[in-house]
Amino acid sequence: MSNDDLLTELGASLINGNLTDKSLLSQTSEQPVFKVLPNANVIKIGGQSIIDRGRAAVLPILDEIVENLPHHKMIIGTGAGTRARHAYSVGIDLGMPTGVLSVLGTFVSMQNARMIHFMMAKHGIPFIEPIQFPQLPLYLAERQAVIFFGMPPYVFWQRNPEIGRLPAHRTDSGSYLISEMFGTRSMIYIKDENGLYTADPKKDKHATFIPKITVDELNALDLPDSVVEPPVLEFMKNAEVRRDIQIINGLVPGNITKALNGEQVGTIISAD
Ligand code: ADP
Ligand code: MG
Repeated sequence: MSNDDLLTELGASLINGNLTDKSLLSQTSEQPVFKVLPNANVIKIGGQSIIDRGRAAVLPILDEIVENLPHHKMIIGTGAGTRARHAYSVGIDLGMPTGVLSVLGTFVSMQNARMIHFMMAKHGIPFIEPIQFPQLPLYLAERQAVIFFGMPPYVFWQRNPEIGRLPAHRTDSGSYLISEMFGTRSMIYIKDENGLYTADPKKDKHATFIPKITVDELNALDLPDSVVEPPVLEFMKNAEVRRDIQIINGLVPGNITKALNGEQVGTIISAD
């Protein structure tokens, strides 16, 4: 028996073949992807849209999350917001590269995660850094929720954006990738508008609400500004699990509960 006899056909192709060959690559997704935590939900609490508003916005949201602890498992990411924008401006003034700006944004989303964590501490909800994700299943089993910072931990490895120097992969992106990787049942963005509009409703009074849209339709609209970071839409095109996301208004009581229950209360963007 040669070594190759122990391998699957795909195994032999991967070991001996060309890893840029498209037909070989397409075979690597023939097995359906395993969903690691199909009963968990990823929810991202917006930085500028929610946390920067302080207690008036944050406290009712945390209360609603606590009410849902008996019913739903939640992996809770935090945005960064206005302080990150200020940090970016100082970093840019000092000539910092994208990787360093990414470090700055990471620590601001961490500040928010730590505050949310201390507010939830009495419910036994832990804050986890990326290195602690192996403990995530235990924490969800024991306490139903964890808090993490939404920035993907690319830090110095954050790639340069197409235009300028700001890290393009921020907390919407990091939260999305956790949802996709863990195969969760939903990805809910909690922000301060009812969802996606034809323009930023804070700047354009004539902006109209879009309840449901596909990634292709959204790209075709070529909106000047979006409610979600553009890389999320890029990720969705190649998504195996997380093929839709919902953006909801966390300032409206009950919305989080409804979204966790699988109802539509905001905009659903889908890849299909
Ligand atoms: P986060 O707090 O999660 O970082 P952002 O503040 O980055 O969220 O994004 C949410 C904001 O995006 C909303 O408060 C809204 O003012 C703005 N926005 C820009 N364009 C749109 C749009 N087309 N539809 C809805 N909101 C938009
Ligand atoms: Mg943002």
